[in-house]
Amino acid sequence: MSDLHSTPGTQSFETVAIHAGNTADPLTGAVVPPIYQVSTYKQDGVGGLRGGYEYSRSANPTRTALEENLAALEGGRRGLAFASGLAAEDCLLRALLGPGDHVVIPNDAYGGTFRLFAKVVSRWGVEWSVADTSDPDAVRAAMTDRTKAIWVETPSNPLLGITDIAAIAQIARETGARLVVDNTFASPYLQQPLALGADIVVHSMTKYMGGHSDVVGGALVVNDAALGEELAYHQNAMGAVAGPFDAWLVLRGIKTLAVRMDRHSENATKVTEMLTRHARVKRVLYPGLPEHPGHEVAAKQMKSFGGMVSFQVEGGEEAAVEVCNRAKLFTLGESLGGVESLIEHPGRMTHASTAGSLLEVPADLVRLSVGIEAVDDLLADLQQALG
Ligand SMILES: *Cc1c(COP(=O)(O)O)cnc(C)c1O
Repeated sequence: MSDLHSTPGTQSFETVAIHAGNTADPLTGAVVPPIYQVSTYKQDGVGGLRGGYEYSRSANPTRTALEENLAALEGGRRGLAFASGLAAEDCLLRALLGPGDHVVIPNDAYGGTFRLFAKVVSRWGVEWSVADTSDPDAVRAAMTDRTKAIWVETPSNPLLGITDIAAIAQIARETGARLVVDNTFASPYLQQPLALGADIVVHSMTKYMGGHSDVVGGALVVNDAALGEELAYHQNAMGAVAGPFDAWLVLRGIKTLAVRMDRHSENATKVTEMLTRHARVKRVLYPGLPEHPGHEVAAKQMKSFGGMVSFQVEGGEEAAVEVCNRAKLFTLGESLGGVESLIEHPGRMTHASTAGSLLEVPADLVRLSVGIEAVDDLLADLQQALG
């Protein structure tokens, strides 16, 4: 497996995660950036800004700390923090695209991302085509001479499909389109898309970055300074910024990202070992399994395979719903990436909005966000839920 573990520069990922942006408070020496719960800043004479802050939509010191940290984690030059993952996506799409522009989107993606394209952005005259992004030829075939962006989610939600980021980056470079990678499932600890040639990284910080199911947030990270300026302009002009307390919570969560992700991957691997042997399980979807079609690419571009596992249950939709309802330690709920394990039925919950579309998910699918509890307790709960 490749060592994406070390970021460019001299310090390792774990160290960067704890220290980037987290400089001691100049006023008091507080080792953790304070929550600057403030909207405006006193000026020393007209235009005399202290430290560049004038209004917290434009910039806030707690958010700045997080944004510097995000850029460092992804090996980028500019990080931007938003009120949610979808707010980050919306800002990106409106900054990049105009009427008549075309985007290639994946045939497996977060349901809200699909809804944003299909129901919102399309009304602004942006066109899109769906492609299986795990197949570079399919991406090439879906492109038009107006294609401005290729959108990739890897691993994807909820089918855990894997896209070869470097291969799609090559296509983007050849055609002048920009490659956007939603890195929510992997987190920058497991995968760093910018180093593989992506132009823009998107995160729902609500998930692994925050890590404790207590905050909603989103991020964009880029390497290109001019693109970073353009996105920062839109972030301020559109206004869906992360608030100071939310920024502080994510900054706090990120400090343990590396140890959490190691445990998520470890527990998920043991869960898949049990599920693949279980008589009531038809198919397990996890990039760590050698039989997964994206296994080799995942092993090449990820440090380990993450905490998300999906599986199909014998007996169809009702059987899948029943497994979700019977789980006790796995909490029945949407979202993912927290320390506590979650279970859900994508067809009726997170991905209900994809019904009847090219992104419709199998009805017998169950999705797990495997947490960092003791794995034996998790295995026991799944055994009883499967009956
Ligand atoms: C949750 C999620 C989003 C949307 O993020 P919000 O913070 O809920 O707005 C986008 N992409 C993926 C892969 C997600 O899991």
